[in-house]
Amino acid sequence: AMPATALGIDLGTSGVRAAALAADGTLLDMAAFLFPSADAGRMPAIWWTGVQSCLAELSARLSFAAIEGLAVDGTSGTVLALDADAQPIGEALMYNDPCPEQAIVEQIAAQAPADSPARGATSALARAIHLSRRRGVRKVVHQADWILLKLGLAAPTSDENNALKTGFDLANGRWPDWLEACGMDIALLPAVERAGMPLSAVGPAGRAFGLPANCRYHAGTTDGCASFLATGASAIGDGVTALGSTLVVKLAAARPIDAAGYGIYSHRVLDFWLAGGASNSGGAVIRSFFDNEQLEAMTPLLRPDVPTGLAYYPLARPGERFPVNDPSYRPRLEPRPADDVVFFQAILEGITAIEKFGYDRLVELGGPEVRSVRTVGGGAANSAWTRMREKALGVPFLATRSAEAAVGTASLVLAGKARWS
Ligand code: ADP
Repeated sequence: AMPATALGIDLGTSGVRAAALAADGTLLDMAAFLFPSADAGRMPAIWWTGVQSCLAELSARLSFAAIEGLAVDGTSGTVLALDADAQPIGEALMYNDPCPEQAIVEQIAAQAPADSPARGATSALARAIHLSRRRGVRKVVHQADWILLKLGLAAPTSDENNALKTGFDLANGRWPDWLEACGMDIALLPAVERAGMPLSAVGPAGRAFGLPANCRYHAGTTDGCASFLATGASAIGDGVTALGSTLVVKLAAARPIDAAGYGIYSHRVLDFWLAGGASNSGGAVIRSFFDNEQLEAMTPLLRPDVPTGLAYYPLARPGERFPVNDPSYRPRLEPRPADDVVFFQAILEGITAIEKFGYDRLVELGGPEVRSVRTVGGGAANSAWTRMREKALGVPFLATRSAEAAVGTASLVLAGKARWS
């Protein structure tokens, strides 16, 4: 049997997962720890319990003796304040928490460059500034950064992907001075390395899990970037569509695509830039009309080769950001045919058109021609829909390697080792 060579640890919205890969990328094993409640997912101590549980479970089933590197991904924009002993001061502020102080958001709006991903009501930078004012704070770090510290990394270190929404200046490779004008003491922020970069050999805390002395920590990434990598997408022009509650399209590009109006910004991952846009359309609209049982019954009755021609734009409420940016954009879900299957098909056609429009928009904004599409999320299992989408997009649809962010992070370790050692 091939030995485990890389470990990826994923701190997601529902729990912690860990994946062990062989040197050739084969998934050997995974472990999971689900948060007991949504509230528990806010507590750093529970994150750490989850990591310990996953590592203990994996090390009971396979040998860690040949593991050369590990990395952690976390929810993008989740931040916490640490004291002098690197202990959390209070709860974390989560990726979707609005900053408790509106004045900070306004200060960022006044100081940040126009297309900075640190802008907006749910700005990670705003949360970081708020946390930096807690009593006794010595560092403000991202979720994944803190897990690396717990695993024994000596100095607080983040990665470019986690740091992007906290205002890190990718072009110049530093925390920019305007952060200070917003009230952020830059000395409180972690060092930032390229995602996947090897950092240092594991310390005693890592060895206590059975990791060998030559195993290295690698800079990690966000759960979103990790999910992209998990699919196996890696070349310029590789696209990944998420058909979950919302429709998200992501594309690997040779150059960054940044269009703040559309909510688009780009992460640097290995040797490509990962740009993506999120529509307000998606499976939640389907769900608002039909339950799972109805979807299951109707799916085999879809007729992908007989389009309805209804030209819907499925939205739950007015307003769209991408691929059209119009806060009052009208949903189009009429006329509603008498036959529910036709109605369902028309909604799928509408979402398909938005997906196509989304990729076209990314290309128009400077992205590469789309070469292939991989699909994740609940809608990926609907083969009739896949057929409609293949016809509309006209590019090869490829199988996804994995839907597990932990697998993407472990593969980032392998790629980072190859790229930088
Ligand atoms: P989330 O984004 O919430 O994680 P999932 O990836 O689990 O969502 O996908 C759930 C979505 O998949 C639901 O909103 C539902 O509308 C959609 N879905 C489920 N079954 C089908 C189907 N047969 N055809 C199309 N969409 C489906």
